[in-house]
Amino acid sequence: MILPIVKYGHPALRQRGARIETITPQITQLIADMFETMYDSHGLGLAAQQVGQSLQLTILDVRGVKNRPSTLEVNGQPADVEGRMPLVLINPELEPIAESVEGTEGCLSFPEIFADISRPEAIEVRALNEQGQPVVFRCGGLLARAIQHEKDHLQGILFIDRMPKETRRELQPQLDELQAATKAALKAE
Ligand code: ZN
Repeated sequence: MILPIVKYGHPALRQRGARIETITPQITQLIADMFETMYDSHGLGLAAQQVGQSLQLTILDVRGVKNRPSTLEVNGQPADVEGRMPLVLINPELEPIAESVEGTEGCLSFPEIFADISRPEAIEVRALNEQGQPVVFRCGGLLARAIQHEKDHLQGILFIDRMPKETRRELQPQLDELQAATKAALKAE
C-alpha cells in the first residue's frame, strides 16, 4: 500500500523514533508499504517519520543512481553495493570514519527543495536488518550521505537544520510556503 508522505510542517517529522525491539508482522508490513511508497516517489531513502511513524526504521535503495557513486565494505572487504540493495536499517548507529564533504541533497518531505549539505564522506553503520539480525558495514559516497540523512530523520532532525545559514535564508520563503500549506491541510483534515 502506498502511504501518504508527510511534508515539512507536519509534527511527525520532528519526533524522535522509538527503538524497535521485535520485528512484528506490523513492522514487516510497514517496511513493505514504505518500499512501495519510496519507489512510487522515486526516492532513494525513506524514514518511518516520513509516513507518520515515530520509529527507528529507515529503508534505502541507491541502485539506479549512476552519476553519484557509493562504496561498501563488509568485514573489511569491498562489497557490491547494488547486490546489497535494498537496505532496511532498524535502530541504526553511525560512526563517522572520514572527513566531511559537501553534496547535494533533497528530501521527499521537501518537494523541489535541494541544497548542499556537509557530512562525513564515510561512516560505519551498526543496525538490525528486516529480520532483526545485526548488520555491520562501512560505506562511503552517496550511500553514506543517504544513510546519514535518514538517521537524522529518526532523531527528528531535518536537512534544513544542517544547511549553511545563507542557503537556509535563500530557501526560507519556499520553506514558509510549504510549512503553511502542510499546516492548512492538517487543519482541514
Ligand atoms: Zn528526507
